[in-house]
Amino acid sequence: MWVEVILPVPVYSTFTYVWDAAHPPVPGVRVHVAFGRQRCLMGVVRSVLHEAPAMQAKPILRAIDTHPRIQTQQLALWDWMAHYYNCAIGEVMQAALPAFFKVDEGEEGPFTISDGSLAHWRWVGRRSDEGQIAHVFGQLGRAVKQSEALLQYFQCALTWPERADDFYPWIPQTALQANGVDTAHLRALQEKGILEKSMRWESEEHLPDVDAALADLSPAQQAALEEVQDAWAEGKPVLLRGITGSGKTEIYVHLAAQAMALGQHTLMLVPEIALTAQLYRRLEKAVGPGRLAVYHSQVSDSQRRDIWEALVRPDSAPRLILAARSGLFLPLERLGCLIVDEEHETSYKQHDPAPRYQGRDVAVWLARHLEAGLLLGSATPSLESYQHAKTGKYQYVRLDERFGASVPPQVEMLSLVKYQALQHMEGPFTRPAVEAMAQSLEQGKQALVFQNRRGYSPFLTCMACGWTEPCTDCDVAVTYHKESKSLRCHYCGQSRTPSAQCPACQKSAWQWRGLGTERVQETVEELFPQARVLRIDSDSTRKKAAMTQFVDWLEKGEVDIVVGTQMVGKGLDIQGLDVAVILQADNALQLPDFRAHERAFQLFTQVAGRTGRRDSPGHVYIQTATPEHPVLLAVQAGDYEAMADQLLRDRQAHHYPPFVRMIRLEIRHRREYVASQAAHYLADQLNQTLGGGVLGPDAPAVARVKNVYLQHLWLKLPVDRGLPTTKKRLRQTVDQLAFHPDFKSVKVVMDVDPA
Ligand SMILES: [Zn+2]
Ligand SMILES: [Zn+2]
Repeated sequence: MWVEVILPVPVYSTFTYVWDAAHPPVPGVRVHVAFGRQRCLMGVVRSVLHEAPAMQAKPILRAIDTHPRIQTQQLALWDWMAHYYNCAIGEVMQAALPAFFKVDEGEEGPFTISDGSLAHWRWVGRRSDEGQIAHVFGQLGRAVKQSEALLQYFQCALTWPERADDFYPWIPQTALQANGVDTAHLRALQEKGILEKSMRWESEEHLPDVDAALADLSPAQQAALEEVQDAWAEGKPVLLRGITGSGKTEIYVHLAAQAMALGQHTLMLVPEIALTAQLYRRLEKAVGPGRLAVYHSQVSDSQRRDIWEALVRPDSAPRLILAARSGLFLPLERLGCLIVDEEHETSYKQHDPAPRYQGRDVAVWLARHLEAGLLLGSATPSLESYQHAKTGKYQYVRLDERFGASVPPQVEMLSLVKYQALQHMEGPFTRPAVEAMAQSLEQGKQALVFQNRRGYSPFLTCMACGWTEPCTDCDVAVTYHKESKSLRCHYCGQSRTPSAQCPACQKSAWQWRGLGTERVQETVEELFPQARVLRIDSDSTRKKAAMTQFVDWLEKGEVDIVVGTQMVGKGLDIQGLDVAVILQADNALQLPDFRAHERAFQLFTQVAGRTGRRDSPGHVYIQTATPEHPVLLAVQAGDYEAMADQLLRDRQAHHYPPFVRMIRLEIRHRREYVASQAAHYLADQLNQTLGGGVLGPDAPAVARVKNVYLQHLWLKLPVDRGLPTTKKRLRQTVDQLAFHPDFKSVKVVMDVDPA
């Protein structure tokens, strides 16, 4: 027999080998094979062939497993991702399999995932038949050791949770051994038909009931929950637009509990793992610690393995998995409910390496494939999802009422032009913003300053000659980080100490220009020396558990002013936040990206939504040079749908997603002219094979990263038809480039639905 094997190589196919192991092959088992110059690679059997392949095949080196470790649905997901994202299935496998799964050549079994079962013992009789116990003890008579063993069994059984049926519980052999019972005596009792033995996974029956801990829903939440349930009954995905503070999480918990009651797992994706700490606590209260698991890149390999095992055990209690996008690769055969929280967040997109996938879109496919309920939740849904809701592909459910009744925040524009002219500025703050913060502090409330740039200053400029320090390897200025006293490139991560003198004119006339969160924090501390200031950005939360500590301070009210980047917009809940000041709103509006306005609207609305309490509205101040900008006015009006409808009309008029599908080709080479020539050549070739429609080439805003020059080509394709053929032709044309004498070393990266 022959097998098709998926190997971790960037080649768009599987590979055929002869199966010569003693047991029959099954898709999903791991094998070791020789491949090219590689002596031994670990792969996964994709399918079994019963007819000889055209080419002669080598035998596998060994079969690692006897039964499948990868579920059929996982293999189907890998297939789909490889096709949709136009990458090798081996690349998908690499992303999907955690480290504990990968076995090296020399490593012997047992398999990295044991089946985990343990011997358990049980009294064969019924609970209701009390007389029988005395009878059996009488029968045992002088077999003292066996009597003692049986007595120990009943003593353990008393401390075990009672079963719903008429049987005594299964007690693990290890528990009996811990009480001095010898297995020889257990076996003797088994032979006499008094105890029975079974190989079982550790009993999970003692996990508490979820229902008991569920919070009551408000009438609005209840109505939304029922709408979701109705849509799911029809097999329809749901887009839940719930404004910040409307209590979406309670609805998630109810849906998870419902799935658990049916014995199904729930996967809940979140965009920012640093923020899971806060959510974890809320979910733990509702479903209990035993049922809740967290899965993301910072979770240890052994923890990942525990989760994986818990999901594959056929008799395990259902779980709620709180995960980053990689959670989609878990064995989810028993999935009943899939929730994507903050579905508009760009962090669901994987940029590098392949597969360059959008986690939200993969979730949509996966839920449909597994016939699980799908819920996309956001206060500011992505235009893609909103368009699906408008066309009826998704059920659109709205939750407009803030939980516990509250008023929307008051948003005020502060014109930088005006306050600069009046000289009413305190550093980067306008006077009204400073006054509002001061007032909120006096009242013992919290304030948030939002600046979406980390570090101290994004430009270090020489005032004598105008030189601005660039990264040596990228075409971008380096950011000065005061805390670490270093110049850091946010593109390649390179870090160095600033030189005392300007390399261009040898003078020392450095000036820090621009505004990062470190500098904002410094100004805030100068303006409000008494205030306790906390900075939340990807630098300050880098240390493990830092965010847990921050959340703790916030919940205890030990912080007066938070200075933060977009991280705070991703679902951080700050109790008693009264004032939010958005600095330099224009930065987000002016990004060279067709999604800039959508994102700016989402970002500012999310920040505004953090403010306000049950009894008093929050106050939001947007500092901007363009107070009449339609996006800012929409944030002020709090009108998501009006904004989204307008942006969709623009997208349709200019042929952008969701009305077309975009594919981006990034051409990379260490020489600028080679990258450029290759890009032009490829554009010509593609225009021929695809019959035109290729846009570019053009250089991205940062055209050199890590000493590699970049060029972009764009394709806009109709969303509904002809895509598989186009993608195949695209791939073939790109692959041909490797045979061109001038462009052999050019790398081309394909990104379907780039973000
Ligand atoms: Zn200079
Ligand atoms: Zn760099």
